[in-house]
Amino acid sequence: MDHFTYRDGLLHAEDVPLTQIAQEVGTPVYVYSHATLSRHANIFRDALSILPDARCAFAVKANPNLAILRVLQAHGFGADVVSAGEMQRALAAGMAAQDIVFSGVGKTHAELLAALDAGIGQFNIESEEEGLELARLAAARGRIAQAALRINPDVSAGTHDKISTGKAENKFGVPYDAAAEIYARLALLPGLHMRGLAVHIGSQLASLAPLEAAFVRMGGLMAAIRALGCSVTHMDLGGGIGVPYRYGESFPDPVDYAQMILRVTRDWGVTLMFEPGRVIAGNAGVLLTRVIRVKQGVVHPFVVVDAAMNDLARPALYDAWHDFVPVRAGPARMTANIVGPVCESSDTFAMARDITALEAGDLAVFRTAGAYGATMANTYNSRALVPEVLVHEDRFAVVADRIEPATILAAERVPDWL
Ligand SMILES: *Cc1c(COP(=O)(O)O)cnc(C)c1O
Repeated sequence: MDHFTYRDGLLHAEDVPLTQIAQEVGTPVYVYSHATLSRHANIFRDALSILPDARCAFAVKANPNLAILRVLQAHGFGADVVSAGEMQRALAAGMAAQDIVFSGVGKTHAELLAALDAGIGQFNIESEEEGLELARLAAARGRIAQAALRINPDVSAGTHDKISTGKAENKFGVPYDAAAEIYARLALLPGLHMRGLAVHIGSQLASLAPLEAAFVRMGGLMAAIRALGCSVTHMDLGGGIGVPYRYGESFPDPVDYAQMILRVTRDWGVTLMFEPGRVIAGNAGVLLTRVIRVKQGVVHPFVVVDAAMNDLARPALYDAWHDFVPVRAGPARMTANIVGPVCESSDTFAMARDITALEAGDLAVFRTAGAYGATMANTYNSRALVPEVLVHEDRFAVVADRIEPATILAAERVPDWL
């Protein structure tokens, strides 16, 4: 459920008509609903409250906007970050360093140092090599890094290949069969306090079964590590729950997710950590766009909109579906291809889609764009970097400016020897 609804035939974000945002901010623009974000954060956190000790770290890469992070901080979320830049954002949003988890397969020397100096709560180490480097850096600074070892459980997530992370051939984590011995070796290093395991098998999961299979394997590994005499007090179960992108699709409910976890982890005796991203932010945003023109096609007309693959990359990257609805409802229908202006055939949002009939100048939105939307935006074709707006009841604010091509051009120069 979200707070993008029609009132008198006009699509609103909470109490604000999207026509007003288009008029004042221009298009394309991401529009987020505070009430929707808050609702999803509460549903997730409340569902997990049946677990004895659970902590939530929002996966910042899903939506790193400072205002979004501030809302989640106020809802008791920490942050799961994958770069020093994301760590800076979490800290700037007011999240405590202790509530930050640093994941990622390629943390640089500089990033490890920055995170150590910030005093973050947990490093999710993705290789023995990284553990050795972190231990050395921490010891040299007289610090002890709290760490978990990320495991590759070799479980198929059943999602798109490019967002699967838990198969043996994926780059993430250490191989399941080698993990206990790696953990035991790392646990001996000064500078490192190995306190647990982490797993994240992929994103946009449509079923709980692969998660359950992975968590059962994690429980077995935890027992094997304890049998080696090592301590395990924290288990980070990652993120990955999917959201409906098409009207009527059904996805795992956080309540069922929590019950499955309670069943699997009942006798683990650990603090459980979670890294949800999409399930919190996905439905809380839309990409508002204006039709530039409708161009005749051989089979179907092309609805050319002013948003493009550089603003919303998911369709081009993952063949992803986003529901596309008009801001002004109408009875007439058309079958059309929905495309952006970028000079790539992959700049196609939908082919042969049955939509409300649109004409040049009409406004429409791509729904479910609050996660992996603006965060992936770029300036390909020397387009502006798309702005972001947050709505709260009848108010709205621009929470990220449109960065104009001239501003980007100003950071480039021709060397004097040319
Ligand atoms: C991307 C990511 C997440 C969040 O995934 P969602 O599918 O958005 O919930 C969590 N943990 C790690 C390590 C990630 O890379």
